[in-house]
Amino acid sequence: MKQMADLLVCGHVVTMDKGQEFRNGAVACAGNRIVAIGSEQELLEKYNVAKVIRGQKGVVLPGLVNVHTHAPMSLLRGLADDLPLMTWLQEHIFPVEAKLTSEMVHHGALLSIMEMIKSGTTSFCDMYLFAKEVARAAETMGMRGFIGEVVYDFPSPNYGELDNGFHYMDELFAEFKDSSRVTITVDPHAVYTCSPDLLVRLKGVAEEQNTAYVLHLAETSFEVAQCQEVHGASPVGHLDQLGVLDSSVVAAHCVKVTPPEIELFGARGVKVAHCPESNMKLGSGVAPVRAMLDAGVIVGLGTDGAASNNDVDLFGEMDMAAKLQKVHCLDSTCLPAGAALHMATCAGAEVLGAGRDIGTLEVGKKADIIVVEMNKPHLTPMYNAVSHLVYAARGGDVLHSIIDGRIVMEDRKLTMVDEHELLAACRQWAEKLTGRTC
Ligand SMILES: [Zn+2]
Repeated sequence: MKQMADLLVCGHVVTMDKGQEFRNGAVACAGNRIVAIGSEQELLEKYNVAKVIRGQKGVVLPGLVNVHTHAPMSLLRGLADDLPLMTWLQEHIFPVEAKLTSEMVHHGALLSIMEMIKSGTTSFCDMYLFAKEVARAAETMGMRGFIGEVVYDFPSPNYGELDNGFHYMDELFAEFKDSSRVTITVDPHAVYTCSPDLLVRLKGVAEEQNTAYVLHLAETSFEVAQCQEVHGASPVGHLDQLGVLDSSVVAAHCVKVTPPEIELFGARGVKVAHCPESNMKLGSGVAPVRAMLDAGVIVGLGTDGAASNNDVDLFGEMDMAAKLQKVHCLDSTCLPAGAALHMATCAGAEVLGAGRDIGTLEVGKKADIIVVEMNKPHLTPMYNAVSHLVYAARGGDVLHSIIDGRIVMEDRKLTMVDEHELLAACRQWAEKLTGRTC
């Protein structure tokens, strides 16, 4: 007697679990979980399946995990480029963000989530204003999100004075406490925008809620110099003195970290979100990822917001991470394709404390799966699937996407929203926000 399964995803399966691949393989899903992985023939003999999907020469792999972004910043994409971080932030981004409304944030988040799904991302970690709207957008699109409200010392365009921010966070935790796909995080912006008291107070909230503490850290030389001057310590040293540096910390960037600080990350279990394209574009430098991996630090990949990248396509980010580290180390072996794919899948899941549920294709894990079409000129012939995924494939080659067992994109068409309507609405909201024609 055959068992029942809702979905069978067929192709060359790259599990990211101990290097296991199945050439004519398949992944069977029931509800939101993976129930079997093996050869297609074996699984078809064992299961009665409601639906079978595949691609032409399709590669099946775990959905990608974007560990650092600001989804609503898609509305600011291309608004100001080619500037240093502080000038870009203070003269261009913050003034526009001061005019944001919840509707704008909602549409900007929908736009980025649409782009992420269409380029193979199935989970994202987001820090932004009006985070309820980002989380609601994730629910609408069927996306998995780790989402926090950005908090800093000055009044917020969302909640106003700081004390209201804590109330807003309480509401955020309450609204999404039963969500199967949205996890709420605690997000201090950075050491240069949050007082020591605020950093410590937010750590208390993260501990109480047993969730990740997400912040920007050691992104630029300017940040390090300013922190030294104001607090008499580097950004990492400052956090250590405050007693907040532990395994719940997800530190984005970490471009300017010293070898002893990297050792400290390893010892404390601090996780790092590496954002190579944003660091390159803002001229911040190169994060010493090879040294971090050698010290046992878990490093995931992030795109950062679309305004400093300027896309949220993790395929581009994997390619760039592998190549940039080679330039940094002057060593072509220092970050191979497999290591880059690992960062974008299982390491990303571990960064977000979700390694038990996502990041690899394994029986019992949640069904977050993508299919990449390889029957294309730039992907033919295929000797090595991992090599193609990192060095030759693009986000636009992703054909199907399944999140939490639900097909959210089939044959490149999103199933949860009308794409044309959404693009038109986003253009209108961007024009209202910036006063510019787009
Ligand atoms: Zn960021």
